[in-house]
Amino acid sequence: MEIERKTRSKFLRVKCIDCENEQVVFDHASTIVKCNVCGRTLVEPRGGKAEIKSRVIEVFE
Ligand SMILES: [Zn+2]
Repeated sequence: MEIERKTRSKFLRVKCIDCENEQVVFDHASTIVKCNVCGRTLVEPRGGKAEIKSRVIEVFE
């Protein structure tokens, strides 16, 4: 689990668990982000840092 409390936002490269499509998402997304290929939910908003529902393969600092 992440202990870090910083609210600094980042962009993440994630890979869809279902179809392996790679997409860049915002980790403080305020709307649901879906996979462009299969429509699976990749990121769900949580009123701050979003919940990532896919595999993070790269973080852009
Ligand atoms: Zn997909």
